[in-house]
Amino acid sequence: MPLIRIIPLQFSSVSTMETMLSVLSNRFKMETRLSGQHLDLTPFFNPVRSQYNANEIIQKLLPLAGEDDKIVGVTDLDLFIPVLSYIFGQAYLGGSVALVSGHRLENRRYGLASDPQIFSDRIIKCIVHELGHTFGLKHCLKPGCVMVSTTYVEEMDQKSDMFCQTCQNELSMLTA
Ligand SMILES: [Zn+2]
Ligand SMILES: [Zn+2]
Repeated sequence: MPLIRIIPLQFSSVSTMETMLSVLSNRFKMETRLSGQHLDLTPFFNPVRSQYNANEIIQKLLPLAGEDDKIVGVTDLDLFIPVLSYIFGQAYLGGSVALVSGHRLENRRYGLASDPQIFSDRIIKCIVHELGHTFGLKHCLKPGCVMVSTTYVEEMDQKSDMFCQTCQNELSMLTA
């Protein structure tokens, strides 16, 4: 049976983990587990940008995914890809690896009081979104759908962690 496995990579918000596991197994109808695998992210630090290279990390995570498994790296570290100043997450369409960062999802980053619930909601939306890509879903324009592309946390807060009916139907076809 294919699994979704979450790999914490320097991720401190362990309290979000339980909700994360249950939302993911529910959205994708797949068993979702916490993985004990580890990857040292130090080699992916870019000193000029003070950020970590998401594409390089994904390349290293690839061999950790089993044949049909999906793996999700979650980290507190700030991620980038060369063409963008930062990213919330990254995945390849139809791939087996998603990578998500909580770095830009913290209210504190925006001068607001820390709110674990908001943080948890945001990171779960990010993970569902990136995993959606690994199952072959593209960006959606339907307001509220988790597959809507987001650049800012404000946009993130306006969508749900659920697929719209169209994306849901497509996902069911892709995972059948
Ligand atoms: Zn996307
Ligand atoms: Zn949609």
